[in-house]
Amino acid sequence: MFGKIHEIYSSISGEGISQGIPTVFVRFAGCSLRCGKTETKSLWCDTPYALGPNQGETKTLPAILDEIKALDKDHGFQILLTGGEPLEGENRTLSISIAESIYSFRKEHNQPYPASRVETNGSEKITMDPFFIFTMDYKLPGSGMENRMDLENFQILEKRHNSLDEIKFVVRDRIDFERSVEVIREQKIQTNILYSPVHGEVDAKELVEWIKIDNPPKSRLSLQIHKVLWGNQKGV
Ligand code: SF4
Repeated sequence: MFGKIHEIYSSISGEGISQGIPTVFVRFAGCSLRCGKTETKSLWCDTPYALGPNQGETKTLPAILDEIKALDKDHGFQILLTGGEPLEGENRTLSISIAESIYSFRKEHNQPYPASRVETNGSEKITMDPFFIFTMDYKLPGSGMENRMDLENFQILEKRHNSLDEIKFVVRDRIDFERSVEVIREQKIQTNILYSPVHGEVDAKELVEWIKIDNPPKSRLSLQIHKVLWGNQKGV
């Protein structure tokens, strides 16, 4: 088994409820969404270099597991599968195999973080598998991608009932925020909620005020700490 991987590296988790935790990142190549791109506005994706399915390097499952092990050194770093989109097309089978292998090894050796966190864009079906933890985006109107969202994923999150899963809303404007509140209410969401502002378009302090007023359940502001520490560098 093999797939297109853009990069594998270690750093700290940059956002969400796992922010700051030492993490090995496996970045898949390929994503069919194009977030934020409209007739007048440009793409806001922060990994445009990993969007094409051929922008990565072909790697086998054992080679990927070896690289993870070399970076992790059995310390039990969190494993984060990201992209691109780790659940799209052929990436999906490889993501499952990576996460299954790590899960059984860490369970057997009593290591922390047996389940791998997956950052997924909301258009691909998530699963009930215990070897995955999900950070699932819901793309709001400002992304231009809301019609690609798979609404059944909300029911799967509900059934999973995993306190480490999270849903991320990236907010471009007030219309986006109001839509997020509507989605939370309509879907009766109980999962952790992350709010992130689109850089340069929404002031994070203004977003805080909106969160304070509407107070969606289990919600928090999530800023990307790796950008504070290293700016827009890759591989950190
Ligand atoms: S889903 Fe993620 S990787 Fe794909 S275009 Fe949007 S931000 Fe970029």
